[in-house]
Amino acid sequence: MDRMDFSRYTEGMMGKTLSIDTIDRIGNAPALDFVNTVHSHLETQSHDYLRSYGDLLKWARAGDLLSVAEARRLAGTATDHPRRAGRTLRQAVELRGLLHRLFLAVIRDQRPSADDMNSFNRWVADMFGHRRIDRSGAGFDWGWQSGDGALEQPLWPVVLSATELLMAADRRRIKECPAPDGCGWLFLDRSKNGTRRWCTMRACGNISKARRHYRRRSGRPEPT
Ligand SMILES: [Zn+2]
Repeated sequence: MDRMDFSRYTEGMMGKTLSIDTIDRIGNAPALDFVNTVHSHLETQSHDYLRSYGDLLKWARAGDLLSVAEARRLAGTATDHPRRAGRTLRQAVELRGLLHRLFLAVIRDQRPSADDMNSFNRWVADMFGHRRIDRSGAGFDWGWQSGDGALEQPLWPVVLSATELLMAADRRRIKECPAPDGCGWLFLDRSKNGTRRWCTMRACGNISKARRHYRRRSGRPEPT
């Protein structure tokens, strides 16, 4: 089985085409799921699920990061201001790359670069600048200052999730679906014994099994 056969096999196994509407959310945190909107991180030819600002809205809405009303309002603003929407999509893709580098540094026990920390802190300042307290039932709850039509709103909960992950004791449980058989997607391992290895068994776990089988049959050496 060559590489193309394997990608068809992957799609067959996942039983669907690659679309933002059906993307798996296996990260256990919005920031990790956001990094996982590219498949895969380990192939030179990867599929980007975020192809338009509308894709970003769909992704955020499906993850409950926006209310229906907020998503509708932002879609209207994006239609009225297509250039701003395009710029926000480019910023979203930059943020995704930045978060990927930060989490890989955590996984590899390395220090993120000063440039990346500075960039991330600009996102953090922007996110906290839009935090607000709203009345909620008999009490109060966190909300977002969203009335000014800021198209970046879907990214604020992603940045918040990233800050929570970086500060949490269990950041050591952030893992990468491993090379050579995995896809490089990131996830927070919530398994009891910390033994989760793959994004899903259904995708990379089974591919790894099939590849091992193929290598044995063809007499190729196992990768180390
Ligand atoms: Zn994987």
